[in-house]
Amino acid sequence: MGLAAWFLGRRNGAARTVRLPRDYYVGLDHLINDRFDHAAEIFARMAEADGDAAEIQFALGSLFRRRGEVDRAIAIHTRLREHGGPGLADKAAFALALDYQSAGLMDRAERVLEELAASREYRRIALDHLVRIYEAQGDWAKALKVFHELPPAVQAERARVAAHYLCELAEHALVQGEAERARTLLRQARTHQAVLPRADMLTARIAQQAGDAGGALLLYLHALETAPGLALEIIPSVLAIARQTRRHDMLNELGRRLRQSGGVSPRQLAWLLATAVPAEDMSQLPGITAELGGGVESAAEASTLSALLTRIGDAGGRYQCDECGLNSVGWYWRCPKCRSWDSMSPAVFKWAERTDHVVRAS
Ligand SMILES: [Zn+2]
Repeated sequence: MGLAAWFLGRRNGAARTVRLPRDYYVGLDHLINDRFDHAAEIFARMAEADGDAAEIQFALGSLFRRRGEVDRAIAIHTRLREHGGPGLADKAAFALALDYQSAGLMDRAERVLEELAASREYRRIALDHLVRIYEAQGDWAKALKVFHELPPAVQAERARVAAHYLCELAEHALVQGEAERARTLLRQARTHQAVLPRADMLTARIAQQAGDAGGALLLYLHALETAPGLALEIIPSVLAIARQTRRHDMLNELGRRLRQSGGVSPRQLAWLLATAVPAEDMSQLPGITAELGGGVESAAEASTLSALLTRIGDAGGRYQCDECGLNSVGWYWRCPKCRSWDSMSPAVFKWAERTDHVVRAS
């Protein structure tokens, strides 16, 4: 009994200490009855006087944002930013940037985040959000600029991403017919990442445009060796150049180089070639895959396999993201769903791998 009395007394005591100001209930009443401006005004007044009330408002603000009522979230966070005092300004600014992002008002989000990059506490997260916005907009120059503002350790960790930004810029320059500028950008890209198949492919395109078919060929082959997953993108270009330069042994050379790269199993390689090789070169395929020890034994089988893979590929996508599993018909350097770089690989890789497991298990 004594213990229960003590406990109840304690509980009552605790309840007595939670005493909210009358303004809070009035504000809540306005909120519940959709008199939002009155509510915001009262809460803002409370925020000036009391830090806890500001926390209540932040909670309300993110609640509104999550419910899709972004206007309300923006109103709350704007007031907090302007009238909440110096201790809250940055936190409110960041919340506001999130509101603008979810409202699709990217230019406003950008402005707030750029201001926040000067804050010590929010600098890093503001830069990360800015990068995400610029990547989504395909504004690679700005993404690169923000990259250079990141701490050196983070820059080192994301060197590959910076190289991709520069490749994106080079690709754009190429489309504009500015080969020299593209070349400079690719050189810069290689300072971030020395082994860079994407830069090889772009340099090959520049060489091809300049009439240097032999140079282009070597670059494509080099890219393929370092990244066999690019086979579907590269093999058709390689075979076109080979035909043009009368190098009829090219498929053999391709097979040899891919095998040397060590990145693919013989079956993966055979399936990859069966998907990537154009119909007119199909008759050469069995010889090559037999040499590789892969699963294709006759021209008819190669052609059936190719037709099958194309059909499956068309239905489900020729590529799949290793990170999020997204299927895609076209090639992306950066997955459009999960935003990972270099995560797409030919779907045949995985099918062949599964078959490899089955074969090994039986
Ligand atoms: Zn993905």
